[in-house]
Formats: sequence, structure tokens, C-alpha cells
Amino acid sequence: MIATRNRISFDPELIRRYDLRAPRYTSYPSADHFENNFTEKHYRQAAVTSNEIPIPSALSLYFHIPFCNSLCFFCACNKVVTRRTEVADEYLDYLCQEIQLQGGLYDNDREVVQLHLGGGTPTFLTMNQIKRLLQKVDQHFLLSTSPDRDFSIEIDPRTVALESLESLRQLGFNRISLGVQDFEPEVQQAIHRIQPAEATLELLQHAKDIGFESINVDLIYGLPHQTFETFNRTLELLMTTPPDRLSVFNYAHLPCRFPPQRRIHGKDLPSAEEKLTILETCVHWLTTAGYSYIGIDHFARPEDPLAHAQLNGTLGRNFQGYSTHTGCDQVGLGISSISQVGTCYSQNVKELSPYYAATNHGRLSVDRGFQLSPDDEIRRRVIEQLMCFSRVNLNSALASSENTPETYFAGEFRVLEEMIDDGLLSIDDNNTIEVSPSGRFLIRSICKVFDIYSAPGRESRYSRLI
Ligand code: SF4
Repeated sequence: MIATRNRISFDPELIRRYDLRAPRYTSYPSADHFENNFTEKHYRQAAVTSNEIPIPSALSLYFHIPFCNSLCFFCACNKVVTRRTEVADEYLDYLCQEIQLQGGLYDNDREVVQLHLGGGTPTFLTMNQIKRLLQKVDQHFLLSTSPDRDFSIEIDPRTVALESLESLRQLGFNRISLGVQDFEPEVQQAIHRIQPAEATLELLQHAKDIGFESINVDLIYGLPHQTFETFNRTLELLMTTPPDRLSVFNYAHLPCRFPPQRRIHGKDLPSAEEKLTILETCVHWLTTAGYSYIGIDHFARPEDPLAHAQLNGTLGRNFQGYSTHTGCDQVGLGISSISQVGTCYSQNVKELSPYYAATNHGRLSVDRGFQLSPDDEIRRRVIEQLMCFSRVNLNSALASSENTPETYFAGEFRVLEEMIDDGLLSIDDNNTIEVSPSGRFLIRSICKVFDIYSAPGRESRYSRLI
């Protein structure tokens, strides 16, 4: 059964047909549905409630470090491009205040089992600045020392020296993620990200040598001047030092929403057909090299904890993607970061000035958020199960309700019938949806059937699969 679930089959015709725009479902509903009437008061109440349940969950902390040395033209992240390293000191002053405020909200015996520095470019910070940040976190939260803890940082290989990796290990990080995107010089030129392959691979090898686990590499397909031959070369090079995990993102060209992308010429982009071939090549490459397909755009070595978590049913999905630490309350710190506590989401303001102003007044800079209804909770369960395991039992998902799947999801069943006919999934007599090997690539389209918020008219905000 498990072996069947982990199989994937690449069916270009089916992908063309179901390649809809859909959220990536790192949350349900997706962040673009958060509401402005959700305030700091609601977030604080959610934190109090989360402490009061009989066994409060562990914590996961995310820190957004928004600064970057230079601008990558494809980038859709919330960032500030600057060469003035001193701006990070000012940001850290405020971030430390927020750490204190947030730390005061959660019972101090709630262990932090997951911690992630993302951005932007976290390694824009000097080692002393990172140390200062972690010391402050240590003062206000109970940091796990278990080998299973997941303390990770995103690395920009263009600016990180080999010896910095050792310092990060000493500071307690046990996982890293390297931004690579593509090794082809012409592609790097077009996206304004020159990153020699040799230096990146040397860094990757060094990270392995000094004991980092679950090393992740980010690639992007669909970038200007990419072809399946060039992407092949990138993969060939990367496989000389294979990482434990790979994320192969689809580049979504949305220059109206993300102004840096205006520097990328549409005529240089691979066609949808070429992108499909690149994706097919990539999937073939990675599965032949022994990687397990985790979901959407994530692959992992079979011995990696992510692959294990998928097999033993403990995989989760959160704002950082797939996670081995399910059930944590997530606390996001820094501009634009998102918290997920109990049944609510809360997002900080995206700009520095209002963040500084709120923090100065001893307030959390909550900008918007969302309180889930009982129906949202059911749909979130269904979508997370599908995203993580390609299957869901609707009876279990509805356990808290008096309804049967046949009545509660009557409309969804009608839509799913066509997907059943097309071989994307099956539904058994016990109301278990099982996504087929060829349906796994289209999981977002399947999840979208259960999403009452991504109504027609809003789809342009989301990317396609290819
Ligand atoms: S891709 Fe990373 S390094 Fe490049 S601009 Fe975006 S956040 Fe900064």
C-alpha cells in the first residue's frame, strides 16, 4: 500500500489538462484570504488559549531576515536590497524586542523543536548578529537540545565562507538550505544571480563533512534561457554532491505583482511545453537517482527524516513547506512573518517602518490574520492530508461533525467524479480518497476542489504547476 502511494507517474496529457492555478496550500485558507479585522488582541487570545489546553503543543519559531545584498530578478519574496550591513543591527534591535514580547505569551515549558531563519537572506547577518539573535531567543524560549530538533537556516552560497558553516553548527543549527536555482551561466546572467557551481558544491560538501543533516537545495525551473538540456547539466553537476533534499520550484512569471520580474524578458522564457519537458526530465533524473517524491516540488533521499515522516504518517505542512514536526504552534517573528496558533493565523506588517513603530510601543505588529471556522478546520485537515500523504479518509476528517461525507461534500464528490474518470484518484467504500501515481503531480488541483475560498476570479494570484 505504502509503496503504491509513493509511486509517481508522469502523464503530460493529464498535466496539461489539470494544470490549473491553485495555492500551494502551506496554509488553508491561503494567506491572500487573511482579513484586516484580525488584530493583535485576537492573536494574544489565541496564544493564551494554546497554553490552556491539557497538553500544549511544542513550538516552531520562524524569523524573517529581509535583507539581501543584491536583487535576483525572479524573486517574489518580501525583501530589502541593500549593501548597508548596519541596517541589520537596527532590525535586530526590534526583532529582539519582539522575541521578548512573543516569549512572554507562551508558557516557558513549551519546547521549541523547530526554528528556522528565512528571508530575504539570513546570512546577510554577520555571525555575531546571528549569535545575538539566538542568545535572545534562548533567554525567552525553551530551546530543544534533542538531536531530533530541526534548527535550520537558509544559506546564500555566494556570500558564505566555508568556516562560517562551522560557526553555524556551533551555534546549534543542524540543517541548512542552499539557494542554487540553476548552474547554467547564461541563466544566472539573466536572473542576475552569478553563482559559480564549483564554490556552491564545495560549500555543500563541506556542510556534509561537518555533520549538517537534511541539507536542502533549491532549484527553479522555467527560468529564462533554460532548456531541458541546460537543466540536465545543472542536475548532473548537482548530483556529483547530492543533497538530502531538493525543492524544484516552478518559476511563475507575474511581473505585474512582482516588479523585479519586469527585468526578465518574456521572450527568453521556456514555453509551457519546454517547461513540461524540463519537469519530466527532472522527475526522471531524481527518481532514478533514488530520491522519493514527497509532494508538489519536494524530493528527499529515502533515508531522510522527511521521507520517513511521510511513510510513518507524521509528515506535516506549514508555512515552511513540508515538516517533520507536526502539530506545533508556529510563531512567526519579523516583518511579514506568519504565525499559526491553534485555529488562527496572524501575519505581521510587511514594511520596516510600521514594524518598528509598533514594536517601539510594546505592541506586536499584527497586520491581518484569520480565525478558522469549524468548516475551515475540516477542510484544512482534508487538504493537509492530501498534500502530505496523497490520501485522506473523509470519515476521519469529519469525525468532529455529525455529517457524513456524502452529504457534507456532496458538491465536491460531483467534481471529483470527473477526476476519478480521468484516473487522478479513487474513492473506496470507506470514503478514502487515494490519489493515483499520475494524480500526485496535480495534487493542488485536487485540493482546490475542497477549497471554498479560491473561487474563480482570484486564480491569477496563484501559480500553475508548469
Ligand atoms: S532570491 Fe533570495 S537572495 Fe535573491 S533577492 Fe530573493 S530573497 Fe534575496
